[in-house]
Amino acid sequence: MSLKAVFDKVTANDRITTEEAQCLFKEASLLELSKLATIVRNRNAHAKRVSYVIDRNVNYTNVCDIHCTFCAFHRNANAADSYVLELNELKQKAIETKEIGGTGFLLQGGVNPELSWDYYLNLVSFLSNNCGIWVHGFSPVEIQHMAKINGLGLEGTLKTLKDVGLGSLPGGGAEILVDSIRQKISPHKSGTADWVDVMEAAHSVGLYTTGTMMYGITETTFERIEHLLILRNQQDRALSRKNGGYYTAFIAWPFQSGNTVFKGKIHETTDVEYLRIIAIARIFLDNFPHIQSSWVTMGHKTGQMALHYGCDDMGSLMIEENVVSSAGTAYKVNREEIERMIGQAGFEPWQRDNVYKPIPHIATR
Ligand code: SF4
Repeated sequence: MSLKAVFDKVTANDRITTEEAQCLFKEASLLELSKLATIVRNRNAHAKRVSYVIDRNVNYTNVCDIHCTFCAFHRNANAADSYVLELNELKQKAIETKEIGGTGFLLQGGVNPELSWDYYLNLVSFLSNNCGIWVHGFSPVEIQHMAKINGLGLEGTLKTLKDVGLGSLPGGGAEILVDSIRQKISPHKSGTADWVDVMEAAHSVGLYTTGTMMYGITETTFERIEHLLILRNQQDRALSRKNGGYYTAFIAWPFQSGNTVFKGKIHETTDVEYLRIIAIARIFLDNFPHIQSSWVTMGHKTGQMALHYGCDDMGSLMIEENVVSSAGTAYKVNREEIERMIGQAGFEPWQRDNVYKPIPHIATR
């Protein structure tokens, strides 16, 4: 297979195969990938514009009994620093978010065995209906846990959550969708088929989701492509239902080994590798409307570079938690900063909500 044939195919808007993606990984230069990814990016999004969202990363509990080996966040229920957020704390976070023009919460927790089904329903309803916050919430492993305790099945669980105000589902916990890798890093977490089942159920009940990939955890290039193929096939099925449920975006980031059992034992990935992966994902996932730059993980500069490797979205402003001054809560990166990052990279910034609809008063500048 020649690289030129793959180039011709992408340029002609033909879908590439897994073998052709493999060829891009092996043979294409960084600049060639930038060029091809930009062609596909511009078919899916405005060529000159890059979006961002102002939302807040809220972890409602850090108690989790899944014990993924790479996770430095989870705690046992009896740990001194374990917590479950109270509604009044969530309300305060919602007020602060809205005060700076924010629209939603990325709401995720550990899988806390002490929480009841009613807790989740109240949590979503309170944020959505009382606080006016878009709830982009719960990774598949949390949904599976809820389905276990309520007996409603995956679709029943998601439909009920949607009815009380759940807006969309983040695709967290995908890591690498290959069972041999998942077994190594999170043996107690669900397998590939279970993760896919939750996303399938979410799309079936008309929920938007995102698709993710955490790479750099000993997987091969071929396994990365297998992961992308699962997402692409699932998006084909979702779009064919025409019920409003589908993947809005793909987000990839490298595994961070600090504070985990893998520290010092694993090959650290590079920024160049990130740019190659994100560009190939943009080319391969031809049915995904948006690709997010992971500037929070990769840093501002690589985050800006990613906009020239297929990304059309800068992701979240990421309101900083726990940074408190005597005058109140402070925020690490503000709107001006993220807009400056986008502008310096050569694009016009625009604010979106959690499902890529423009926020009217500042949609264009
Ligand atoms: S399920 Fe999530 S919170 Fe729990 S250990 Fe795994 S990564 Fe951490």
